[in-house]
Amino acid sequence: ATGLMAGKRGLVMGIANNRSIAWGIAKAAAAAGAEIALTYQGDALRKRVEPLAAEIGAKVVGHCDVTDAATIDAVFAEVERLWGKIDFIVHAIAFSDKDQLTGRYVDTTEDNFAKTMLISVYSFTAVAQRAEKLMTDGGSMLTLTYYGAEKVMPHYNVMGVAKAALEASVRYLAVDLGSRAIRVNAISAGPIKTLAASGIGDFRYILRWNEYNAPLKRTVTIEEVGDTGLFLLSDLSRGVTGEITHVDAGYHVVGMKAVDAPDI
Ligand code: NAD
Repeated sequence: ATGLMAGKRGLVMGIANNRSIAWGIAKAAAAAGAEIALTYQGDALRKRVEPLAAEIGAKVVGHCDVTDAATIDAVFAEVERLWGKIDFIVHAIAFSDKDQLTGRYVDTTEDNFAKTMLISVYSFTAVAQRAEKLMTDGGSMLTLTYYGAEKVMPHYNVMGVAKAALEASVRYLAVDLGSRAIRVNAISAGPIKTLAASGIGDFRYILRWNEYNAPLKRTVTIEEVGDTGLFLLSDLSRGVTGEITHVDAGYHVVGMKAVDAPDI
């Protein structure tokens, strides 16, 4: 795929470590020739992100906590100073209180509901507002979602409600920005063991359930999500917008437990 992204520059938000989905996407885009800028959330993650940036020749443009709009403005100001314009953004950011990613959705608190929606949903729109101004030659915006938006998954709870809203916002943003040749899409990734996923109750059980029941009889890797991300960020997907692309070994097409799946 070398050359596919030659001349394209983009901002990748949401790398925590080398298991992050955003890292899988950044690696694929960089290998295809993209120039990449990365953000990190707080000093602890900076130490993780800097060596990864060096591995792919990416620039680190600063701390961004999406609950603090000034930090979003600051990283976009830095990107504008560096490049003047951008061609793509990757938003791989979500958060909910761990205590509410277990048990019943109905017990969600107002405070955590608002926080989850702000960080996991509104932040994509907040980023889109800034990115639109820098996408003067059109562009591609990509976010990450999960099947828990479509169907009830154990423990996903308020995050499922947030992902449903995120997927709706992908469609609204696609319409708003389409006339400027800016495309907006999401990848619905199957379960992957990342830092964020470790907050979800019984996550290992969910991984095994997917291995037994997905059509491909396995889970997916960040490299596989990265390759579909590369497609959605590149001109290969120039006719695609407002789309939720599943990269889940086919799990979302299955209606019931496989007859040969062991009890787990
Ligand atoms: P991760 O822990 O590697 O990444 C989550 C990122 O969100 C981290 O980099 C963290 O710094 C960032 N973040 C959280 N709160 C933030 C804030 N206030 N400001 C800025 N950044 C903040 O985990 P991941 O699994 O790679 O998650 C990336 C995305 O993929 C998330 O949207 C997640 O919901 C989604 N996703 C994950 C899975 C999975 O199974 N891992 C499946 C489908 C979708």
